[in-house]
Order: sequence, then structure tokens, then C-alpha cells
Amino acid sequence: MNNKNVITLLSGGLDSSTLAYWLKKNSYKQSCLFIDYGHKTKKAEITAAQKICNKLDLNLGVVNIGDIGRYGKGILVENNNQLNYLPPIQSFFPQRNMLLLVNAAIVAEKKDANHVAIGLISSYGNYPDSTRDFLEAASKVLKISNPLISILAPFIELNKSEILKMAAELGVPVDVTFSCDLAENHHCMICPSCIERFQLFK
Ligand SMILES: [Zn+2]
Repeated sequence: MNNKNVITLLSGGLDSSTLAYWLKKNSYKQSCLFIDYGHKTKKAEITAAQKICNKLDLNLGVVNIGDIGRYGKGILVENNNQLNYLPPIQSFFPQRNMLLLVNAAIVAEKKDANHVAIGLISSYGNYPDSTRDFLEAASKVLKISNPLISILAPFIELNKSEILKMAAELGVPVDVTFSCDLAENHHCMICPSCIERFQLFK
């Protein structure tokens, strides 16, 4: 088995796009995977992810588990007129990162990959499934089913500014990345991800 064969979770956002470029630079053989979990911005994300794949000469697989979005809560999946959250609102979908990793691990077995890669960055404890503790526990769970699979999350200690710096060094076309939580085809400039993006790029 090729020990540098990896399933890369690619959302088309800055973090996962930088991850795909980082893996390419580090000579991994990648298959990119987009998970449609019924989030509102999926079309714009798929478009961005496809552009990244085109630039890296990679294929993009799309897994549709969209129905789960109707049963989950949060700004990523609920209609704006259903939202009734007090600020600060979070770009959070319950169990999302475990959901993504499990799907990638399923595909990894089919493709004889022994890594799944996810572009988690430091959230300073704001997101429970974006921590080193989460990664270690998720890794144990995946390894119970398949001891050969490991999780690559090389950016888990980096903040957003450090990711942007790395993206520049790797030549990531950050202008094609998409990271809004609310709008279907543009950056709304009011959601948490847009505010973070605006502050980062200004
Ligand atoms: Zn937005």
C-alpha cells in the first residue's frame, strides 16, 4: 500500500485548499472529497473546490449526505428566517468533523488510502471538534475499524493568519476559495466566516 495515498477533505475554503496544496508539495497522492451535508453554501463551495482541483490536476469526488442537514441545527443548515440565536453565533454543525472523517475513511478503504486529511486549524477551544483531543479520539475510533488509517491534520496548531501566510508561500489562489456560512453564491460579509475572512484579507 502506498503510504502517501490520502483522501483529502476539501470544502473549497482557505484552510482545506491550503491543505491540498501542502499535501501536493509534500508528495502525497491525493483524492479530494467534498461532503454535501445539506449546508446552504454547498454549491459555491463545490465550485471553489473544483477550481482548486483543476489547478492541482486532481479529481473531486462529491458525497451527498444532504438529508442530515434537515435534521441538524445551526446557521450552516437552517434557513435564515428560522434562526434565533443570540450573538456570538458560531459556524458550527454538530459532529461535523467526525461526520467528514468517517466519510473520508469509508472512501479511503475503497481507494487503498491509509490517510485521511482534514484542514482543521486552531480554534483556541471555541470548537470542540477542532482540537488535538478530538483528533486523538477520532483517530482511535477510525483505527478500531481499520488500523491502517491515520488522520493528517498538519495545521491543527496554526491560526488563520498563519494559514494565510502558508497559502501565500504555497501559491494557493485564495481568491477562488469560498468560506461564507449563510449566502448561497457570494460572501455575505456578516457571518462569522465572512467577518474573519474580511479581517484577514484587509
Ligand atoms: Zn458570510
